[in-house]
Amino acid sequence: MNKKQTQFLSGWGRYPTLSCNVYQPLNESECRRIISSDSNSFIARGAGRAYGDAAISQTSDIVICDRLTKCSSFNSRNGILRCEAGVTIGQIIETYLPKGWFPPVVPGTKHVTVGGAIAADIHGKNHHRDGSFCRFVKSMSLTLADGQTITCSPEYNADLFYATAGGMGLTGIITEAELQLIPVKSPLISTKKIVCQDLASLCTSLETAEKDYQYSVAWLDCLSEQGRGIVILGNHTQVEFPNTKFFTPLSVPDIVPSGLINGLTIGLFNEAYYQKAISEKKESMAGYNQFFFPLDVLNNWNRLYGKSGFTQYQCVLPSENALPTMQAMLKHLRQNNSAPALAVLKRFGAQNNDAPLSFPMPGYTLALDIAVHPALQAVLAEMDQMVIAEGGRVYLAKDAFLTPESFRAMYKHFPEWLAIKNKYDPQNKFSSALSQRLRMNKL
Ligand SMILES: Cc1cc2nc3c(=O)[nH]c(=O)nc-3n(C[C@H](O)[C@H](O)[C@H](O)COP(=O)(O)OP(=O)(O)OC[C@H]3O[C@@H](n4cnc5c(N)ncnc54)[C@H](O)[C@@H]3O)c2cc1C
Repeated sequence: MNKKQTQFLSGWGRYPTLSCNVYQPLNESECRRIISSDSNSFIARGAGRAYGDAAISQTSDIVICDRLTKCSSFNSRNGILRCEAGVTIGQIIETYLPKGWFPPVVPGTKHVTVGGAIAADIHGKNHHRDGSFCRFVKSMSLTLADGQTITCSPEYNADLFYATAGGMGLTGIITEAELQLIPVKSPLISTKKIVCQDLASLCTSLETAEKDYQYSVAWLDCLSEQGRGIVILGNHTQVEFPNTKFFTPLSVPDIVPSGLINGLTIGLFNEAYYQKAISEKKESMAGYNQFFFPLDVLNNWNRLYGKSGFTQYQCVLPSENALPTMQAMLKHLRQNNSAPALAVLKRFGAQNNDAPLSFPMPGYTLALDIAVHPALQAVLAEMDQMVIAEGGRVYLAKDAFLTPESFRAMYKHFPEWLAIKNKYDPQNKFSSALSQRLRMNKL
């Protein structure tokens, strides 16, 4: 059987980093053997793209699923793909885009696994129109705490299915899933950019564009007090085109000093990005890599934050008071030496009501990349209170700082989720540093 090894692991933000015991099964039967033969607790890990501590633990063994990479069937008439949980979004695109099919929801990097996408119920730039990832999951197989693998779907073992959608790996190890892909004619996206002077016009532009564009997102210059930025819109083109070339990403070496990303470098970057958007053509065609995954052009860009790492504070706020709340949050960060290096704004549509821990809800979602520093916990605790006051929540897939109390105030359906977790995992065999920090094994 696969041997247990010790490795230092972190999420994408490189904070926190823990010494972890790791298994790397080759297939579903190895997953079952690992879970049955070891009395320890476990947590699954995919590609490690969650920012915080969702896929690490000092006390649970980590089951890295990145070798479960087989696609067992694809129906080219209806676009239904059955694949193992370690298959990445990038792998799906490379294999099925040439046949005219695309993943229904993609995050800002293509290096996430299907297991990780289900466990976080990820959203894309099309949430306002299409919803989150698990809406397109027809069924999945999970290795449970008793070492058995079972299948669940919206019709069969539905409670397990919905507790796993956004359940952060805490119900079991997803080994396989059946996904609905969407038909596309071309690898190109027709895009439009709108330059906005302030946060209010960014919000209005995003809202107005919703009916005409499948994909929308806004980049925000959070050093500017007005919150100027660029709205970026896109639709799959209907024109057939030759496949775009896959780019070869560059890499950042692991020797970047802490402090490289600071007020000066953030300001220079933001100014250059804004001026470029003003001067370039507003409507153009983009390859899917350029449109969906611009950050993937630089491998290991997370190293730019140095050894102290960074966090992504992503929250969602109901629309009514979102604008003044976001303005207050950005001011709070600027005043407390925590100005984000990167800020992204999106609109969410309807929430996945059946999945108690799914993050998206109707409103605005703001994602802020912030370098970790000793006072950050207190700075973010104040942000949490602003989010709670508005009835919003923070995304667990990005989080490293939330407290058990704030988590419960944000995730009102946690008790329903916990009842299902206790039904399938009564001994709390699946636990992570995130679930331990948030005490997700009790009310
Ligand atoms: C640059 C960047 C951009 C991003 N953009 C977005 C975005 O636009 N929208 C969005 O929603 N997210 C986004 N993310 C976050 C990312 O999509 C999620 O964190 C996703 O869960 C990562 O998948 P992973 O395979 O890397 O999983 P990991 O990071 O390894 O694990 C994440 C969670 O999934 C669980 N998990 C992983 N595999 C399995 C499995 N086989 N069975 C059970 N549980 C499992 C883990 O236990 C953990 O709780 C982004 C991340 C990065 C780095």
